[in-house]
Amino acid sequence: MDIYSSQITKLIEELGRLPGIGAKSAQRLAFHIINMPKEQVQSLADTIVQAKSQVQYCKICCTLTDQEVCPICASEKRDHKTIMVVENSRDLAAYEKTGKYDGVYHVLHGAISPYQGIGPNDIRLKELMGRLQGDVKEVIIATNSSLEGETTAMYISKLVKPTGIKITKIASGVPVGGDLEYIDEVTLLRALDGRTEM
Ligand code: ZN
Repeated sequence: MDIYSSQITKLIEELGRLPGIGAKSAQRLAFHIINMPKEQVQSLADTIVQAKSQVQYCKICCTLTDQEVCPICASEKRDHKTIMVVENSRDLAAYEKTGKYDGVYHVLHGAISPYQGIGPNDIRLKELMGRLQGDVKEVIIATNSSLEGETTAMYISKLVKPTGIKITKIASGVPVGGDLEYIDEVTLLRALDGRTEM
């Protein structure tokens, strides 16, 4: 039996598909939305649709951006010969917040995980290898220290080594399994400064 109107049930179902939203939260959000002023709901819906249609992957570093080339890749102030490899755009944002890293990034959008069926071709590795044809002096691996992150780091190291480009890995000051975005700036900078050659 449908205890709510079918439209509300549908909204609860849709919200419940989002990551981290359980049945109870979905219900709470749905009723919150129903009680919001109509203009606010419209604005929220428009923002979601616009973000989806306008956000794209930077054609150089693959981060999410609303331009063809992201502001970091487009900047002349950045050291384009140093590429830090991160798992996602949130990790990039964490390093950017420190304001101390002046190289560029490469965003993989995931990590290799045989367990979850995610292989090297499912992340942005080909794009990284393409960039290494250019003038690059160092690749810094800053994947998470989870099993997947470590597997990915080893894999990239094997790919990069034959090119002769210096390859380093951030120090293991980053807690195991910890998402980079939750780590404080001091820890991030220490991990970066303490990076070692692979
Ligand atoms: Zn970019």
